[in-house]
Amino acid sequence: MNAAQPILQIKDLYKRFNISGDFLDQLKFEGGKIVRKQEHVHAINGVSFDVMPGEALCVVGESGCGKSTVARTVMGLLKPSGGSIHYKGDRIDSLSDRALLPYRQKMQMIFQNPYASLNPRKTINQTLEEPVRFHNPQMSNTEVADKVKEVMFDVGIDPSWGVRFPHEFSGGQRQRISIARALTLDPEFVVADEPISALDVSIQAQVLNLMMKAQEEHNLTYLFITHDLSVVEHFGTRVAVMYLGTLCELAPTKTLFATPKHPYTQALLSAIPRLEDNAPSHIRLQGEVPTPVNLPSGCVFHGRCPHANERCKVEIPELIACDDGSKVACHGIEEGRL
Ligand code: SF4
Repeated sequence: MNAAQPILQIKDLYKRFNISGDFLDQLKFEGGKIVRKQEHVHAINGVSFDVMPGEALCVVGESGCGKSTVARTVMGLLKPSGGSIHYKGDRIDSLSDRALLPYRQKMQMIFQNPYASLNPRKTINQTLEEPVRFHNPQMSNTEVADKVKEVMFDVGIDPSWGVRFPHEFSGGQRQRISIARALTLDPEFVVADEPISALDVSIQAQVLNLMMKAQEEHNLTYLFITHDLSVVEHFGTRVAVMYLGTLCELAPTKTLFATPKHPYTQALLSAIPRLEDNAPSHIRLQGEVPTPVNLPSGCVFHGRCPHANERCKVEIPELIACDDGSKVACHGIEEGRL
């Protein structure tokens, strides 16, 4: 793979969840007759982006915008309803579980909740040894134990504590162990789904620093899912902003924070508490986030956007490239009125 080739490519990705229930639940009485109706949650709607080697691409947006669904679909935990996912040029979204195994070794995930993601019945040694043995059956017991000690040391957990169970650790220590589990297989690409949001604020910075250290030492690429923009500012190489399952803006982190272009990005950034005098005043969006069951026509943000016009109500905006390296999906920007 040459340096300019993306490690991950997501093209026109869709994910729908059928929420119609069983056959009888789908029958509705309308206009004097019984009709069968199916309903879907449109969680991801035509999202495309690349992740470049060595970067930390942060995906941000309100809860329910589809960012965690993107993470789970990339990891093969959910099958996409449309579109494609390529890892180092190989299409992986349609592979069977068995064919996906070599990629799973190189692609690891850190989950949001360190309490739920560790098996309470297994010691830390057992939890960390399991994936090493599974993917490297040729390794001896001593080699496996050495590998586990090495990653525990890397994440700041005393290797002698490996005989303990998860309940004997604090939340921050458990998330360190989750990071250690991701590192045991020497991954190239790590998907982190809100890895610090379940932790105390005082511990969040430690875990973030650990992830940045691991990125440097292990040459990792991150897809980092978060709703916390202040984290993104320090951690991300680029930022992808999602709203209602669509990508609004994709930009280098500094550019996004200095000159946010999409009206939704501007509103999101204006909500970050700041001490500076020249901080932008808080933009209050009107209305509620529409339901992903009945997506609005045209731009999905048009019902809340102060700059919406007639075109916005009917035509879906495409991502267009701007001179400063950012990409934005907005008719107002394309028309030069924003
Ligand atoms: Fe607002 Fe229209 Fe741009 Fe959507 S496309 S963000 S409605 S101006």
